[in-house]
Amino acid sequence: MPSEFTGKHVTVAGLGVSGVPAAKVLHGLGAHVTVVNDGADERARAQAAELEALGVTVRLGEGTASDSGSAAGLPEGTELIVTAPGWKPTKPLFRAAEQAGVPVWGDVELAWRLRGRDGRKAAPWLAVTGTNGKTTTVQMLASILKAAGLRTAAVGNIGVSLLEAVTGEEEYDVLAVELSSYQLHWAPSLRAHSAAVLNLAPDHLDWHGSMEAYAADKGRIYEGNRVACVYNVDATDKPSTEDLVREADVEEGCRAVGFTLGPPAPSQLGVVEGLLVDRAFVEDRHKNAQELAEVSDVNPPAPHNIANALAAAALARSFGVSAAAVRDGLRAFTPDAHRIAHVADVDGVAYVDDSKATNTHATEASLAAYESIVWIAGGLAKGATFDELVVGAAKRLRGAVLIGADRALIREALARHAPEVPVVDLGRTDTGAMLQAVQEARRLARPGDTVLLAPACASMDMFTNYNKRGDAFAQAVRELGA
Ligand code: ADP
Repeated sequence: MPSEFTGKHVTVAGLGVSGVPAAKVLHGLGAHVTVVNDGADERARAQAAELEALGVTVRLGEGTASDSGSAAGLPEGTELIVTAPGWKPTKPLFRAAEQAGVPVWGDVELAWRLRGRDGRKAAPWLAVTGTNGKTTTVQMLASILKAAGLRTAAVGNIGVSLLEAVTGEEEYDVLAVELSSYQLHWAPSLRAHSAAVLNLAPDHLDWHGSMEAYAADKGRIYEGNRVACVYNVDATDKPSTEDLVREADVEEGCRAVGFTLGPPAPSQLGVVEGLLVDRAFVEDRHKNAQELAEVSDVNPPAPHNIANALAAAALARSFGVSAAAVRDGLRAFTPDAHRIAHVADVDGVAYVDDSKATNTHATEASLAAYESIVWIAGGLAKGATFDELVVGAAKRLRGAVLIGADRALIREALARHAPEVPVVDLGRTDTGAMLQAVQEARRLARPGDTVLLAPACASMDMFTNYNKRGDAFAQAVRELGA
């Protein structure tokens, strides 16, 4: 069947997780596809060979993708670019596209435009973004929607790719969609049923150029929402998520719905006496509230995770899901590995793996979840500073054990703001350092304490990724207990 892509010259920028499926789908729709890619390593060559066998043109390592330089590199005749989300908007390819009036879409924009084709049902999207907590919230949301008997999947940055979800065999009633700030940047026509921005802390500023630009890209998730724009009442730093709602152009009748760890005002979800409570999606919200679940139904019941649960509940409720399904979905949810995962108790001390806390904002949430902590931290700081983090956590720290390349930054912040806290600086960046770190932490800890791996840094100086770092921690804890 001919489509609006038939005979169209489309350039796909970047191979990889989004580029390969995008190129295949567009080729299948009859487009003339050219893929440009920076690198030409083994993986890229294998992907290129696979696409070329289908009849797609692939240009590897031509420099068309460079961050700077004058070569525009827009392939001849390009009418549309579909880019990998991570490609910086400052690339010459995009400047050339702008000059030539060629639109640039990301993989999410493509998926959005392709939904509901060939008589398939166009499932509405419940969308989630934020600096931290996206994956957890989207998984909680999918669990709740499933408990309500809906056909759904957690898609986007996780699990099934969006393109697969909208073009594959499986039909869905509704999708729980995780979106990064990059994906939102390249998705101008996306219109979610409802959407949430969980929180907003400086991140990826080198890509976006400024905090304002980062916030503006996150805020795009609210554009054109139909039922609810879900925001974080407790996050008041400017711009707040509520500010982003105010700036968005939404459908007539769409509501702003807040979530808070305190008692909810009308049009909010919140917490009252150990219960998650809805005062937004109830009849007469000025007088009534609906109990959704107990705080203890949230796994783990750390404050930031309760906030995630409330945001997921708000999105589900905006889709008409019952209170019972919210409770059942939250109970059925188990977090992914390395996100505040309780590893073991040894001699009355809890050992918790939050290796996924790769930035200070996530670590701040993690440190707020425990009363008395021996903190294992360090790695690659990615330009972060640690003063605020240490000031906020100082009272809860029994001690700190520092590992990794940028540990001096954390050591100095501890010396400035928490000089009484004992610090062990391991001075090691080899993989085996984790065992020693856990042994030192054990020495510092007293019964009732929590030894918390929440590094506030990336892991790549010592480990392949945060999973491996968390695994090394868990292994070390098991050796303690042996
Ligand atoms: P993302 O997909 O946004 O990276 P994850 O759910 O994978 O989020 O969690 C990443 C890290 O952020 C975890 O270490 C977790 O402890 C922390 N985190 C999760 N939810 C929040 C939140 N609402 N606020 C702050 N930190 C959070």
